[in-house]
Formats: sequence, C-alpha cells, structure tokens
Amino acid sequence: MISFSKRTNYLSDSPTLQLNDRIASLKDQGRDIINLTVGEPNFYEPEQASEAAIEAINTHFTHYTNSSGILPLRQNICEKLLIENGLEYAPGQITVSTGGKQALYNTLAVLVNEGDEIILPTPAWPSYEAQIRLVGGVPHFIQLDETTKFKLTPKLLEAAISKKSKILMLNSPSNPTGATYSKGELEELAPIIEKHELIVISDEIYERLVYEMEFVSIATLSEYLKENTIVINGFSKAFGMTGWRVGYSAAPKVIAKQIAAFQSQITASVSSVSQKAAEQAILNFDSSHVDRLKFCQDSLITDIRQTELDLRIIPDGSFYLFPNIKPVLSKTYFGKIINSDLDFCSLLLDKVGLAITPGSFFNAPNNVRISYAKSLEEIQEAGKRLRSFFSGAEA
Ligand code: PMP
Repeated sequence: MISFSKRTNYLSDSPTLQLNDRIASLKDQGRDIINLTVGEPNFYEPEQASEAAIEAINTHFTHYTNSSGILPLRQNICEKLLIENGLEYAPGQITVSTGGKQALYNTLAVLVNEGDEIILPTPAWPSYEAQIRLVGGVPHFIQLDETTKFKLTPKLLEAAISKKSKILMLNSPSNPTGATYSKGELEELAPIIEKHELIVISDEIYERLVYEMEFVSIATLSEYLKENTIVINGFSKAFGMTGWRVGYSAAPKVIAKQIAAFQSQITASVSSVSQKAAEQAILNFDSSHVDRLKFCQDSLITDIRQTELDLRIIPDGSFYLFPNIKPVLSKTYFGKIINSDLDFCSLLLDKVGLAITPGSFFNAPNNVRISYAKSLEEIQEAGKRLRSFFSGAEA
C-alpha cells in the first residue's frame, strides 16, 4: 500500500472532474448538452497574440527564457498595471507564471508556514483551499451570502482574525459569485488589514470583466497595502487564453525575489511561445467582449427571473451568476424531490440537457453557479431550457 504525503493525502477525485466526466459521457451518447459549468470564455486570443506565437516558433524563439519571464512581457505588464490600475512596479517585481494558478501557488509557498491561518472569504474558487492546504496552511473561512452581497465587511473580517492570521485572500471580481468590491468597500477593510498587519493576496484575474463599475485594486489604497499585497492576474479570462497558461504576480520587491527563486526551481519559465503571445495580447485587449458578456448576463437574468430560482444579487463582474436555490429545495420536479444543489443540477442535466455547477463545490450549497461566457444564442437556449425545467415540460 503506497502512503501519500500528508499534504496531498486529502486530495480526492475532484467533484468538478466527476461532473465533467458525466457531461462528456452524455455528449458521447449523443445528448445535446449546453454546458454552463466552464470557467473559461468562449472567445480566443487576440490575432496579434497568435501571430507573435507563430513567429516565435518560426524564428526558434523556443529555448528556456529568464525563469521569471521575458523582459518585454514584464515591461508590458508593468505598463498595464501603471496605466490601468495606478500601480507602479519594476519588471523585477513581476513573475510570469504558468497561469494565475501557479502565481498563486508560488505566493502561498513562499509565505505560509505550517499552521499559519489564511482568511478565506467563501464561497470561493476551490483551488484556494486546496493550495492553502498543500503548503501546510489552515484556511479560516468567512461564510458570506446574499445579505452582504457575498462581500466581506469590516465586522466579519475583524471577527475572523486571530494571532495565527497571516494572509487575507481577496478575489474581486469573484469566482463564483461575481462580487466586485467598490473603492469605498475596500477602504472600509483597509484599516483592519493594517491594524492586524495582514498580507493580502489579491486575485484580480477577472479585473477587466466588470460592468458599469470601475475596478479598484486594494494595493492602490495605501503605502502599507502596496507593500503588503501580492497582485495575481493572468491572460486566461480577459483574453480567452486559458490554454496558453500565462499568469503573473506583482509583488513587493522582497517577496517578488523569493517568488522568482521558488519558481526557478519548480517550473523555470512559462513556455517561450506563450510568453511572446502574451506580450502582444496585453496590448490588444478587446473591450467588446465585455459588452457581449453583459448582453449574455442580461438575457440569462431575464430568464432566471421567470423561474423559481432566487437571483437577488446581480454581479458587477466576472462571468458567473450565482442564484439561490432555497425555493427549489424539498420540492418535486419530474417526480423527484430536490434535496440538495447536487440533486437540482443533476436533474437539470438529465431532463433538459443544461449543465451548471452545484454551489457546494464552492462551499455554498444553497446556490448554483451559472457561467454565461458563451454565445448569446447558447445563453438564450440555456434560458429557455431552464424555464422549461420549471414549467415541468421536457425539452
Ligand atoms: N483565480 C480564479 C478566481 C479563477 O477562477 C481562476 C481560473 N479558474 C484562476 C485564478 C486561475 O486561472 P489561470 O491559472 O488559468 O490563469
């Protein structure tokens, strides 16, 4: 019997993978499934990015690069952070990583000691908890719900802090709730973070996908926060570049140096070709994607409001809706009693071919996550299927 390391022992078959397998097997059986579980946009990298990648291959820009990333890409990232976010960094403070996911893992790995507490507002992207545990940290969950629009408040934050608290995980706009903090809301949290000398990991990967509000990075709020925040971002969501695997961290100098040293031993650099693509992508963001996402959001909201799902919070960012399913629990649909979010998602998939994600994957069993980063036609069809489920008719 092989015994696994304590740190990885708890990793089990991810429920997301199980759901994906089920969707794939239904598709294999010829079922027409609309899959709104995915965390990636339906658009692709800017043309300039793919051209740069092709050129990189044709000119043999295919060897190792500086393990923290090629300088022109890091320079472009610095320029973006300065112009768009008001954050000044030197290229030496940027580490280009294999997706935001690795940027996050690097950061946790260099900061967290066994037993350190990381304050984790939840519902949250499941990889936060997994990565915290992988580095020996302890997640301290703050359970959020609709009453605070899924946002942390000063009172909730203060109550969660203990002597062991080291880091606050912030994700705005959020996966899965779409909650996006305004400047005022962040300003209310800032004094508590400073008083307790917390480090902030600010995952800003959905930052460009905001609607009718301005994104503000918490690192801009004070000198303390600039010196104690690690900004995580990447190319997956805003540029439709999930498979290119490029993300980055922007960190205070001493932390950046340690992150760079860590990454150099783990993966060295991101693919040279992907870096060339990212260098161009960052100069060519297509804001029409945001308008299209907003159309999809509006369309789905209209449909959801004609069902028994309770959608009280309209998110300001990301591409997810997170309706509450309490009105559906204990009720019977298609002869089956819905006892949980899992039951609901499963029946929805079976009866009308619509795949959405159970909220319990994100520590929120009263909700479901619906990704609307699809074509408007698919979203309209999804809305129709959702309504047909509730009217009891089979699609
Ligand atoms: N943060 C959040 C909140 C995410 O949802 C994701 C992707 N699902 C990531 C980080 C990581 O994205 P990537 O590694 O593709 O950059």
